Amino acid sequence: SHPQRHKPDWLKVRLPQGPGWARIDRYHREQGLHSVCRSAACPNQGECWSRGTATFMILGNLCTRACAFCNVRAGAPAPPDPDEPARVAQAIGELDLRHAVVTSVTRDDLDDGGASHFACLVHEVRDRAPHCRIELLIPDLGGNLDALELILAAAPDVLGHNIETIPRLYPQVRQGAHYQRSLAILAAIHQRAPHIPTKSGLMLGLGETQEEILAVLADLRQVGCALLTLGQYLAPTRRHHPVVRYPHPDEFAHLRRQALALGFAHVEAGPLVRSSYHAQQQFEEATDV
Ligand code: SF4
Ligand code: SF4
Repeated sequence: SHPQRHKPDWLKVRLPQGPGWARIDRYHREQGLHSVCRSAACPNQGECWSRGTATFMILGNLCTRACAFCNVRAGAPAPPDPDEPARVAQAIGELDLRHAVVTSVTRDDLDDGGASHFACLVHEVRDRAPHCRIELLIPDLGGNLDALELILAAAPDVLGHNIETIPRLYPQVRQGAHYQRSLAILAAIHQRAPHIPTKSGLMLGLGETQEEILAVLADLRQVGCALLTLGQYLAPTRRHHPVVRYPHPDEFAHLRRQALALGFAHVEAGPLVRSSYHAQQQFEEATDV
């Protein structure tokens, strides 16, 4: 199929607004934190930040992989900054966030894939921002389940790993990752810490078919995944994987109903949905708070 050149109307970006937004924006500029919301120019910043949700990226901004859909630069990252967990936790506390999402680049250069750094961050947040829920969106840790134990022991409120796309497209768009290994990480979270809601997400528009999406959703349910996000893939630049399709919002709504029928506790699906979109509400519905 031919890549579509023009974005449809439903992808027009909502402008950031409100006092919550202004406060977080200023903080980011002053503290030099890596926020995914800003660096990915996420269209939901106004809404998320005024609700007290934001996403931070730890372990640097250079990745040991180079996925064809991702705008993070590939390169050799510096050793983890031992002060970073405390600094991010301090920011979360001072911003009075209610739900913080923390993610990272993939660190194939580290034995534990960065797991101890994530664990340390959870402890720091419990210490410095005890009222904030903490959700981690982790890389595949190279399939290292011992490293995963470090994160489980720290007990984040939600633990996610994005499957991103269907298995047929992995070699093209997600080199260095393996579909079964990513599923195994999610399976291990659910088996070893069933009280922690497991979360995953896919981008649509990379060239997958409807049947292939449904097969992935069934696999995710099979390993106990509770929370799901489905969003539109947008190519960061012309050198990235092209957008093959812009599914209509009705198609997202239909997929959402199918996913709920498969047993997911909460599903966010729509063109502007990102992993951390409505993260707080997702958590609340999954746990009946
Ligand atoms: Fe930030 Fe995620 Fe909200 Fe986007 S959806 S603004 S990345 S918290
Ligand atoms: Fe981007 Fe993650 Fe792929 Fe690295 S592993 S290039 S951060 S999607």
